[in-house]
Amino acid sequence: FKIPQVENEPMRSYAPGSPERKRLEDAITKMKSELPFDVPCVINGQEIRTNATGKQPMPSCHADHLCTYHKADEATVKRAIRDACAAQKEWEDMPWNDRAAIFLKAADLISGKYREQILAATMLGQGKNAWQAEIDAAAELCDFLRFGVKYVEDLYAQQPPKNAPNTWNRVEYRALEGFTLAISPFNFTAIGGNLAATPALVGNVVIWKPSPAATYSNYLIHKVFLEAGLPPSVIQFVPGDPEVVVQEALKDREFAALHFTGSTAIFRMLWKQIGEGVGEGRYRSYPRIVGETGGKNFHFVHRSADIKNAVQQAVRGAFEYQGQKCSALSRLYVPASIWPQFKEQLLAETAKIKVGPSEKWDNFMGPVIGKPGFDKIMGYIAKAKEEGGEVLCGGSGDDSKGYFIQPTIIQTKDPKSVTMREEIFGPVITAYVYNDDEIEKTFELINTTTDYALTGAIFAQDRSALIKASNALRHAAGNVYYNEKCTGAVVGQQPFGGSRASGTNDKAGSMSIFSRFVSARSIKESF
Ligand code: GLU
Repeated sequence: FKIPQVENEPMRSYAPGSPERKRLEDAITKMKSELPFDVPCVINGQEIRTNATGKQPMPSCHADHLCTYHKADEATVKRAIRDACAAQKEWEDMPWNDRAAIFLKAADLISGKYREQILAATMLGQGKNAWQAEIDAAAELCDFLRFGVKYVEDLYAQQPPKNAPNTWNRVEYRALEGFTLAISPFNFTAIGGNLAATPALVGNVVIWKPSPAATYSNYLIHKVFLEAGLPPSVIQFVPGDPEVVVQEALKDREFAALHFTGSTAIFRMLWKQIGEGVGEGRYRSYPRIVGETGGKNFHFVHRSADIKNAVQQAVRGAFEYQGQKCSALSRLYVPASIWPQFKEQLLAETAKIKVGPSEKWDNFMGPVIGKPGFDKIMGYIAKAKEEGGEVLCGGSGDDSKGYFIQPTIIQTKDPKSVTMREEIFGPVITAYVYNDDEIEKTFELINTTTDYALTGAIFAQDRSALIKASNALRHAAGNVYYNEKCTGAVVGQQPFGGSRASGTNDKAGSMSIFSRFVSARSIKESF
């Protein structure tokens, strides 16, 4: 069988007065009239309601919450694991095309029937505006599923090139023995769906722990998987506290893989614990560890850059979705020769940004996700000032109704100051103006100021300067963009991921990530 031709999901523009805008507005109004929703654990397709509950507040309006979710207790997690493992053989034995069909159907349901509902949940619950929700929960999620099917087909086609006379060699890509633990973040609905679907596509069973701040949208995606025909125990939806869900999973002998997106600190902690488990012989196999973690992403601007473009890309790279993408621009390096013009245009562009509830069409920026994030970002702005940084614009926040922070640009004279080093995960650019004759030193700074290496961008019209920068910064980013912002990787076009403290660089949206969730068996047959 050949899978159908794969295309990127077309994106909607939600033009004023368009029927698609109206449909989305209606979905938001409906959702607002029905909240708060009640979200259970979903184990073997059954809804389990426990006594312990948590709330997912709406970041634009924290007096209201989008859903109450039931937290899995130990017994629920154990049951989810046991029943998933019991379902594994049948799932792995299912012909590959049938597994693929389930996820292709899920993509079509997300693209059509459920698009507005999932977008509304992402907007209200995670604070995205319509276009940011569209590129995430509609486009990227569909692309992950459809291109995922194509990448698995490509992986399975990887076969030994040689057969000796009277023999036939082949490689069978088995699932891992045991279950995968998927721990997903709040900032992309698509990442939640993808962390669960990727291992499942190649025949694994999955325990999916969503971020509390993305519970409702993730629950809807899980529902779509079931409606598309996923056998109910293959992906178990297990919201809850990490002390319970994650700890139970890591104790289990059948723990076979971690598929993680989140902070570097948590990933290191989990890795350590898994390492200890391996040392004690706790697990059946050596678990696979796949993680995408933090970033401290840069734009390097060369004096030959098109200033207007570099400014616009900086504003979008740093402030779209309030800077809460792992890939968001955070460190900006601009040469002294063009800084006066650059600064003037940068401030003018930033001044145009409106901040407010994410479902209001005029607002380019919505709220940050919650109180801890708000305090952390404001804390970094305060620290930058203490260290002598000059706040060129923004710097203020208001958490009285929602968690709103103005787009903030800090100019620093110290290229190693705290906001040049540490991940902020908010709408803050720190700019460092370098001497035009100190380009090499600037590359050195970009390379060594942080341990992260996720994304970066180089702005130069002079091709030799571009090549020089790209070579000098080869290991500073897993995704580098020439003359474009450092966010917005598209599945099927730019495989995504970083190295160093930013992740295992297994590249979401590529064939290589699927190879981490299979265990190959070589078969030699003699005739
Ligand atoms: N893939 C997204 C991008 O390229 C970022 C994903 C993330 O924040 O983890 O912007």
